[in-house]
Amino acid sequence: MLAKNKAAANATNSFTKCSFTTHNSYAQFRTILGLGYAADIKNDADIFNSDVVNGKRKRMFSTTTTTNNNNNNNNNGQTKFKVSEDRVKARNIGISAHIDSGKTTLTERILFYTGRINEIHEVRGKDGVGAKMDSMELEREKGITIQSAATYTKWRESSINIIDTPGHVDFTIEVERALRVLDGAILVLCSVGGVQSQSITVDRQMRRYNVPRLCFINKCDRVGADPWKVLRQVREKLRLNCAAVQIPIGLEEMHDGVVCLVTMKAITFHGQHGNEIKISNDLPSEEMRKLAEEKRKELIEIVSGVDDELAEIFLMEEEPSVEQLKKAIRRSVVSNQFAPVFMGSAYKNRGVQLLLDGVCDYLPAPHEVENTALDLSNNEAPVQTVSDPKAPLVGLAFKLEEGRFGQLTYLRVYQGTITKGMTIVNTRTGKKLKVPRLVRMHSDEMEDVQKSECGEIVALFGVDCQSGDTFTDGTINYAMTSMRIPEPVMSYAVAPKTRTDSGNFSKALSRFQREDPTFKVHQDEESAQTIISGMGELHLDIYVERMKREYKVEVEVGNPRVNYREAITQKAEFDYLHKKQSGGSGQYGRVVGYIEPIVSENEDGTRSTEVIFENGIVGNAIAPGYIVGVEKGFKEAAAGGGLIGYPVQGIRIVLTDGASHAVDSSELAFKIAALNAFKVAFKNAGPKILEPIMKVDVTVPNEFQGTVIGNINQRKGTILDSVAESDDVVVTSLLPLSKMFGYSTELRSMTQGKGEFTMEYSSHSAVDSSSQEELLKQFSSS
Ligand code: GDP
Repeated sequence: MLAKNKAAANATNSFTKCSFTTHNSYAQFRTILGLGYAADIKNDADIFNSDVVNGKRKRMFSTTTTTNNNNNNNNNGQTKFKVSEDRVKARNIGISAHIDSGKTTLTERILFYTGRINEIHEVRGKDGVGAKMDSMELEREKGITIQSAATYTKWRESSINIIDTPGHVDFTIEVERALRVLDGAILVLCSVGGVQSQSITVDRQMRRYNVPRLCFINKCDRVGADPWKVLRQVREKLRLNCAAVQIPIGLEEMHDGVVCLVTMKAITFHGQHGNEIKISNDLPSEEMRKLAEEKRKELIEIVSGVDDELAEIFLMEEEPSVEQLKKAIRRSVVSNQFAPVFMGSAYKNRGVQLLLDGVCDYLPAPHEVENTALDLSNNEAPVQTVSDPKAPLVGLAFKLEEGRFGQLTYLRVYQGTITKGMTIVNTRTGKKLKVPRLVRMHSDEMEDVQKSECGEIVALFGVDCQSGDTFTDGTINYAMTSMRIPEPVMSYAVAPKTRTDSGNFSKALSRFQREDPTFKVHQDEESAQTIISGMGELHLDIYVERMKREYKVEVEVGNPRVNYREAITQKAEFDYLHKKQSGGSGQYGRVVGYIEPIVSENEDGTRSTEVIFENGIVGNAIAPGYIVGVEKGFKEAAAGGGLIGYPVQGIRIVLTDGASHAVDSSELAFKIAALNAFKVAFKNAGPKILEPIMKVDVTVPNEFQGTVIGNINQRKGTILDSVAESDDVVVTSLLPLSKMFGYSTELRSMTQGKGEFTMEYSSHSAVDSSSQEELLKQFSSS
């Protein structure tokens, strides 16, 4: 059958043969052939004015309510100002994938077709150059993308920012930061590998950030390619409401192109770089026409399920026009109720241009996404940002990068306009600065611009800030909602091998910390060691390696340590007198009160991790000047822990009474009293050691299900779910991080190398009593 398809696909006498190298000629070509993009662009604006606004995609960040106190918006959230054509056509997209699905290759092809690069370099530096998006040396060598960068390019009349999202699960903060600023995404899947563990993780993240996505089933040229199996997996494993908008013309080595189910035209790709495109009304075979008709019907049915206008046409048993179908797909993608599935082969240059058309046709423009800021001058009340370039500026610094041009800050402008030379304010620090230079980045090349409007992504030079900071023009005091920053779960002690390297060592650490909020550095007071903490072994290993490569610092690394925490389970009182009155000036301080666990929960249902000190003294039992000493003592004690030296979390310390001495009391005396009071009270408050618990997804062939579950049980894991998907089973469980060391090796040997897993931090939970005893024993003998 495949051979037949190939033969039919080759019989292209009736195809219109055209060859184009730039996007402009391709655009003309589309118009000539009646694919109608010029009209679509105009219609995008119509769509915005008519229906999309009401189905606007709400970003679900940590705040759920949206109050709209901006005069530029009327009651139903519809904007009064006119959205320019340029902004209607702008797209901020990400490309997410399981590692090795072809994300880098696809990005490279996109940059080639959009005219940003003149040559195609294969990934893994086969030709010694490496793909353009992997701008870091390390990435080049490993052939993986671990850092996000924003690349500006143009397709048809659309400006597209491609925010490169890293694929590895240890880099969730990078992925999440990228997802925060993009308006839509392409989920790349391998036509052989299908929905793999990492695809599930990235899809979960996109769902959390409510990002509409197009699916691209790549590698249709590979032996064993089965896009229909992958599409089923997208439905079953990712539970996406999706349907194919194309069917492949030939598979494996006969993969030539696709039939577009919207226009019912056959499109094949020829020439060295696939930019000779043939489009025909004649489908390669009768069989393929039947399949295309069947799949078009399925597409219409599925979109009708979420789009009333199309449903009406469908119920009347009428055939929707190309225009009607396109608009319906667009509305359902923008409202994130449907994901169209594209097919092709990035490597063999099949279908990438059509995927780009899909980005322009179906993914939302920036103004079609609601974004929420917090008004710092109004008790952090949520405010919807408005896509008006004349409104006061609000921009989020989502990425810092130190490259060969110096320090670059990537900014997503949510409201207003940033211009070169204007004064902006960092709302976290209150610091003002003048915008020295604005650039648009293309991987590691750049282009100067004078201004950047809401919806755009721009890079600033020489700005001192942290990623996650918000900039305004100073007339408003907004912060974009803070990102969910997971707690670091693992630590290493690190030191430079030679003393002469210590300058670069500190420089590297301070830069990494500024760039990555999940990477923390602190000094262990007792051992005087430098401790780095992060989201997993790979996360920390990469930084150690970057120190070597980028800063030429050889680093000695200690054993990995799990980041435990301590907590109390009940209230306990304290009444402690610190008194030393022998010789010289004495010390006197008495503190009375209680400690208790904070039971309240955060908005996302997790327990509070705060350490709160409250002074409940009525009167002057302790002179107000000494209270600061009391607070310092308690906070220091809580940070140092009461059991095994890890910080205490979720605790309220209330001071109710005390006593001071006219001569012998001092801030220091009260600090010591508080330190000791805490130690005593902590022991009586049912103290517990908490450990990081990871959410682990293991994907294995069915026959290994029993073995894997047995092993998770042995590791004291809790099975949450076990879903069979054709030949595989995905076991989701919660496991203590301390039980995850060496898991990848063990999983490999348990499953003959066929098992895969991903893990994500879930929470800190109390260890069982035998583990607590063991940890206490280890601590006292260390
Ligand atoms: P990433 O890890 O998702 O960025 O994937 P890469 O782009 O690095 O691709 C991984 C490997 O798959 C490389 O060896 C690519 O040459 C290869 N590859 C990418 N796209 C295709 C494709 O469409 N077909 C085939 N056969 N191989 C591909």
